[in-house]
Amino acid sequence: MKLLSVIVPCYNEEENIVDFYDELMKQDAYFRKEEVALELIYVDDGSSDATAARVRELHGRDERVHLISFSRNFGKEAAIYAGLEASHGELTALLDCDLQDPPSLLPEMYEAITREGYDSVATRRVTRKGEPPIRSFFARRFYHLINRMSDTEIVDGARDYRMMTRRFVDAILSLSEINRFSKGIFSWVGFETKWLEYENVERKKGETKWSFWKLFRYAIEGIIGFSTAPLAFASFLGVLFCVLAVILIIVTIIRKLLFGDPTSGWPSLVCIISLISGVQLFCLGIVGQYLAKTYMEVKRRPIYLVKEEI
Ligand code: UDP
Ligand code: MG
Repeated sequence: MKLLSVIVPCYNEEENIVDFYDELMKQDAYFRKEEVALELIYVDDGSSDATAARVRELHGRDERVHLISFSRNFGKEAAIYAGLEASHGELTALLDCDLQDPPSLLPEMYEAITREGYDSVATRRVTRKGEPPIRSFFARRFYHLINRMSDTEIVDGARDYRMMTRRFVDAILSLSEINRFSKGIFSWVGFETKWLEYENVERKKGETKWSFWKLFRYAIEGIIGFSTAPLAFASFLGVLFCVLAVILIIVTIIRKLLFGDPTSGWPSLVCIISLISGVQLFCLGIVGQYLAKTYMEVKRRPIYLVKEEI
């Protein structure tokens, strides 16, 4: 028999744990028929509610349910990594706990891998129904921007929901960086990926864990993690302002020689100094961002810490 590991990152999802289990088990009959055993790994990302307790109860009912509990909230990316590390299956699936990733797609994914020979089957939502318009707007701008800046393709609307073969999972695990941006990592490792499309499903219970600010920081993480274009942009600005300065010097000298008219007053000077120092600080900030990421990587801290494992 083959084994399919199902990984579910959860952060304060007490209302969804059992619902997710019930929904997943609807696919159990199909996988039994295909001679595939299921293993369900809930990764509790430092929840402060009864998430872990709910999983423990489930484990009492069904031995195939496992729990990894973090010592604090490390973020979804860390939860994904921990889940992938703990998975033993020839196949591994990654789903959100809130049922926004319908388990009913699993058989189709399984068939694409076993019959069509793909190494991973990913999903993207083609609509953003039910999402605040301002969020959709910034999301679209982000995908446009990052795809122009990065060599790694980041698919617009891609979800983390996917099924992977063992060698795909091992490839993901070999990228052990701390600043993890899964959408980029999944794409960076390559292999044949099939894309399934579906309409956005709204969250069943509870609230989204992603504030606008958290998403913004995640976007910056993605750009810095998968592109060095901002550094090139900083150099470009430097060159641009040097050229501008040379032109200004020449203009000033010629004016003095021809008209005996030294450029008047300090207002122009103040403007130029403010502008240039602003640009300098901006560029220094860009360099600083990369330095900060490098600093965190160099420390080689663990990606997550486990408090409890069942
Ligand atoms: N999640 C997590 N750690 C976090 C934030 C979220 O493990 O710090 C989990 C969350 O429990 C859910 C999934 O990641 O299963 C997606 O989160 P959410 O539904 O809040 O995001 P959205 O679907 O709104 O993008
Ligand atoms: Mg969700």
